[in-house]
Order: sequence, then structure tokens, then C-alpha cells
Amino acid sequence: MKVSLGFILAISLAGLQFLAIAAVVSTSYLTSEKAMLEHAHRLLAEAGDNANQHARTFLEPARDTAELSRRVLESRVIDARNPAQVEKFLFQTLRAQPQISGVYFGDEDGNFVYVMRSTGPGPFRTKIVEVNDEARRTDLIWRNEAFAIVSQREDPEDTFDARTRPWYLSASADRQSIWTAPYIFFSSQQPGITAAAPIARLDGSLDGVVGVDIEISDISRFLASLDISDNSAAMILNQNGDIIAHPMRDQIDEIEAGSIEFTSIADVQYPVERAAFGALAADGAINVDQDTMSEFEFEGQRFVSLVKPVLGIDLPWTIAVYAPENDFTATIKNNRTRNVWIAALTSLVAAILGVALAELILRPVRAFAVRTALVSQGEVVASEPLPGTYRELERANETLISEIAQRHEADAKILELNRDLSHFSRIDLMGQMATGLAHELSQPLTAIAQNVDAALSTAKQSEKPDEELLGILHDLDEHAHRGGDIIRTLRGFVRKDAGQREAFDFNTLMSQTRNLLQKDADTNQVSITLKPAKAPLVYANRVQLAQVLVNLVRNAIDAMVDAQSPTRHITLSLHPGDDNVEVCVEDTGPGIAPEITLFKRFETTKTQGMGLGLPICRTLVEANGGKLWHDTEKQTGTRFCFTVPAAD
Ligand code: ADP
Repeated sequence: MKVSLGFILAISLAGLQFLAIAAVVSTSYLTSEKAMLEHAHRLLAEAGDNANQHARTFLEPARDTAELSRRVLESRVIDARNPAQVEKFLFQTLRAQPQISGVYFGDEDGNFVYVMRSTGPGPFRTKIVEVNDEARRTDLIWRNEAFAIVSQREDPEDTFDARTRPWYLSASADRQSIWTAPYIFFSSQQPGITAAAPIARLDGSLDGVVGVDIEISDISRFLASLDISDNSAAMILNQNGDIIAHPMRDQIDEIEAGSIEFTSIADVQYPVERAAFGALAADGAINVDQDTMSEFEFEGQRFVSLVKPVLGIDLPWTIAVYAPENDFTATIKNNRTRNVWIAALTSLVAAILGVALAELILRPVRAFAVRTALVSQGEVVASEPLPGTYRELERANETLISEIAQRHEADAKILELNRDLSHFSRIDLMGQMATGLAHELSQPLTAIAQNVDAALSTAKQSEKPDEELLGILHDLDEHAHRGGDIIRTLRGFVRKDAGQREAFDFNTLMSQTRNLLQKDADTNQVSITLKPAKAPLVYANRVQLAQVLVNLVRNAIDAMVDAQSPTRHITLSLHPGDDNVEVCVEDTGPGIAPEITLFKRFETTKTQGMGLGLPICRTLVEANGGKLWHDTEKQTGTRFCFTVPAAD
């Protein structure tokens, strides 16, 4: 099957580029899916690391502070038995660490110094419990940033005994720095954890315990402030699945006075979080020893989640983060969708332009094809100028024209050859006819001549010869001889030679010719004028030149008769030249018809004509050493001239 140029152009200009765009778009679509997921994972991992780092920086100072305080108190730089000194030390420690909500020291005797942040009447509040034997006194002091007392009072109702608190019990039992499990702080009634360190006496026995409080709500606030993404959340889970810190802490726990029940991640009120991490502690404990990334679907939306291994710093806590994938990839997805649309539109526009361009390219080709068809049907000439087209088509057109022309120049030759062939066959036929005719006529003519001779001698022998009879017999004799001459000339002509030549006066031949044709001229109201001249004798075949002259005069008569010319006049004139004589035959007829090519065989305007007269005349003149031409300088009528060589 052959496909059209238009189809190929449309496919290449519109189709291929459409395919290219589609391939690029679909490949980039698929790779971007993967890239976007990787991008979301990477961002979430960064967020997880960030949360981890922040949580550690948030919690570590509490433990470091407990440790530092232990060393200070054990080194006796601060006298643990001097509440005023201990208070000042604890005050400075608290002020230097903004995330710590309170710091305190309790000893084995029940003495207790506690400095905590306060909402009023001063930014700091100190509680000092002093136990002497059975007496006990509790003072509350509020101080400003400069440690100046803002307010103070005694609290006789206070029954606080540090030695019964979880932090004291754990640290004194373990005799090392510990983190308590989350519990409710006595003073603030807020859930929190305490980093506690035991203080040893010089003899190694327990002197007391120093504690540093961090309210869990502070950790939750910190988690809420973590800017991971619009709809993400980071939380801290205890190893048993309890939610220790959560950006929405206030809403997930119900805190009852004196106790705290942490919500397990499996029971959290947010279904998306249950979907993300609910199954984490299904075995009773979260066991994750490396960053664990997962994807999950919730309500038709894709999420990514990350669970990190335990936080370290001796806390069995784990950071868990989740976020909808869209939070990270929405912009990229929007871009991608926009790009797909742009690509689709570009491809559509390009397809339309491609088709238009194909049409534009094709139009001249189509016009050329139509023109070629018209040329082949002969309705348009190939040489007519081409409408605006391409150089290649111009060249094709030129080749076409030259091919056509060559075929025509070839056609003409064949035609001419045909004519020549038919001419030669006619000539041949004529030659045979002429030979036959000459043969047939020569005998009767000879018989006539002999009989005329016999009649002449008989008539002359009579006593009183009849002069008129003698004249007629002479005329008869002369004509019989001329007839014989013509036949001989005819034979010679067929043989294409000049035959017998002689020197003679052309003036005489002219007048004889007029005599011969006078009757014919009279019948057709044509007058013939002779313009003889003094000229040298010519040397030629007299009969042939007579034929030429007769033929030219006959043509002149025919032309004027056929054209019904009002003036019918023929002039025969003689003009002596250097070594020849020029003879002209001139008439007042219509002139040569434009469609006639003179001297060409078979060119005739006459119904009975053969178109051989002029070519034969020229052949005869040239055979006798002269030239015959049509004098085109004459404006009206026709004038033919020929030359005959002069005799030496
Ligand atoms: P034919 O006489 O058989 O036609 P010719 O060769 O003698 O052949 O003449 C060719 C043609 O030339 C004539 O048919 C005629 O149209 C034209 N022709 C010849 N002589 C004259 C003339 N004197 N005036 C006008 N036309 C002439």
C-alpha cells in the first residue's frame, strides 16, 4: 500500500511529536510518583530526626541538672543542711533552664527545698520544709527574677513528705540517677516526669535526693510547635504504647486528681493515628530498633509514617510521626498536573499547527500534481509558468517540459519522414508514370511528326501549294517536336538532371510563353505585359526554364482568379546581371496565403492543386545553375524571381 505524502507529513509533524510528548509526560509521570514518595519519606525522616533531636535537647538538661546538683551537693560547695544556700543554688539552676518547671532537694530527715516556676504573685516560688525532731515548718516564698522576695507566708497545713514521693523512692532504691515514670506533680497537679539523683554522704549512706521536674505538657507543647507539615503530628510513645506527649495532649487524657491514666495509642480518639500506630504495641511493647517507614491509606488519602527507635537518655520512649503524603507532594503534584495539561495543550496546538503546516507544504505539490494531470490531458501547455512552488518541483517541471518538447521536435521528425516517404513514393510513382507516359506518347508524337513531314513534302510538291495549309502543317510540326521535347525533359526531370542545355535569348522565351498562355489569360480577364531588356544570352535547358515560367504565370492567374481580384495583371520582366539574367513574374493578386510554406512539397491552397509546382520550379532552376525566390519586399500581389546563368 502506498501512503500519501500528506499522510506522512501529518503523521510526522503532528503524530510523532504527540507521541514524543506523551512518552515524555508518561515517563516523567511514573518517575515522579516514585520520586514524590521518596521525597515524602525523606521529609518525614528529617522531621523524625528533628523531633528526636528536639526531644533529647528538651529532656537532657533535666537529667544533666539533676546530675550537676548531685555533684554540687555531694562536694559540699553548697551546704545541704542550709536551706537558704540550697534555695539560692536551686533558684539559679531553674532560671538557667527554661524547660525545667521545678528543681528540689529532699533529705532523709524530711527537709525539703523546692524552687518552681509560679504564676503569681512572683515568677518563682520556693517551698521550704524544715523538720526539727517532731516540729515541722513549711514556708512559701515568692521571688522575682532578681531573687528578691515578692511575698512570703507560712503554710501550717502542709504535710508534704518528699521521702514518700516516687522520684525519692526510685532514686534512693536504685542509688543512681533515674527517670521516674510519668506522674502527677504535687504542686502543679500537671503530669510530668522527674530526673532524680541520689546524694550520698561521705560514708556512702544516703543523704537525700535531688529532683528536676519537666512537665509533660511542655513536651507536648514543644511537639505541637514542631513545624513538620500542615496535617502531620509527632508524638512520643512509651514502650507500652501509652501516649506520653502529643500535640493535642489536653484533649487526649483525662486527668484525675492524684493519678494519671495515659491513653494508649491503640485507643486514641483520632482514627488516623490508630491506623498509623495502633498496632505498634500489640505485643505489649514497641520493638523498633531502626527508623521504620510505612505508607498507609486512610479515607482515600495516602499517608506516610515513621517510628524511630527508643529515644535514648535512659527513657524507653519512641518518637512516632505521620503525615499525609500530600502535605509534601501537593505542590509537586499540582505542578505535575499542570505540566500534563500544558503538554496536552502544547501537543494539541502542535498537532493543529502540524496539520496546517503539512497542508501548507502539500498545497504546491498538489497544485503541481493537478497541473501535471492537465498537461497530460492537453488542457494546459507544459511551458506555461508554474504557480509559486518549490525549487525541486520547478526542476521537475523543467524536466517535464523538456521531455514533452523532445517528444514534439521527435513527432515532427516522424511526420516529416512520413511525408518524405509518401513524397518519394509519389515521386517514384510519378517517375514511373512519366516514363510510361513518355514512352507511350513518344510513338504517336513521332508518327505525327513523320506524317506532318510527309504531308508537308506532299503539299510542297503540288503545283499551287496552299499557303494556309502549309502554315498549319508547319505549326503542327513545331508542336509535335515541342511535345517530344517536353516528354524528354520530363524524363530528364525525373532523373534530376538539366538535360540538354543551349545558349538562347530569354526575351524570346518570355514572349513565347506569353503566346502559349495568352488564351488562358484572356479567358480569365488577365493581361500579361512583357518587359524585355537587352541581356546576354543565357545558357540553360530551354524547355525546363519554359516550364518554370509557365508554372509561375499559371500560379499568378490561378491566384487572381481564385481571389476574384478586381485588377488582374501579370508582368514578366528581364534584368541583366553580371554573369546571369534575372527574370521576375509579378501579379496583382492576393499575395501568398499565410498558412503556406513556399517551396515546400504538397503545400497548396487549391482544391485541385498538388503543391508540387514551386518545388519543381526551384529544382529546375537550381539544376540549371540559378536561384528561385519569392520577393517578400513587394507589399501587394506576388513577385517570384529567378536567375539563369549567362552564356560565356
Ligand atoms: P499548386 O499550384 O499545385 O498549389 P504550387 O507549388 O505551384 O502548387 O503552389 C503552392 C501554393 O502557393 C499555391 O497553392 C498557392 O496558394 C501559392 N501560390 C503560388 N503562386 C502564387 C501567387 N502568384 N499568388 C498567390 N499564391 C500563390
